[in-house]
Amino acid sequence: MDAGSCNACSAAGLPLMKLSLGKDFFGRTYDRLSPASDQSPKWYCAPCSMMKHLQRDFRDIRGEFDKLAKGQVSALSEPEVKQRAQLRLQEIAAIAGTQAAGSPLLNPADITQLIAQFHGPA
Ligand SMILES: [Zn+2]
Repeated sequence: MDAGSCNACSAAGLPLMKLSLGKDFFGRTYDRLSPASDQSPKWYCAPCSMMKHLQRDFRDIRGEFDKLAKGQVSALSEPEVKQRAQLRLQEIAAIAGTQAAGSPLLNPADITQLIAQFHGPA
């Protein structure tokens, strides 16, 4: 595979890695083998692959939070898991905040909003 440039920031001439997402934040395994989920493999430079992991965790947590808000079964129903997710969100916000120019993968405003929702009425 001769990937030319990073799929996120378009940086070229850097070592690129095909991202294998492995397990999600809640320990569930991604189905990387089914053709439907791997039709367009993505390649990222080192900083973007780090952001991609943060983005993945952020999306997982937001997805579970949305379920919780709708009264559906959610991994966040467990207080322990919810607390862990909250800490991870703060970590994500802190790391994303160090990206001076911002990252095409994560919008710090989205993270701030979700953190606020965690503190709001469930
Ligand atoms: Zn990149």
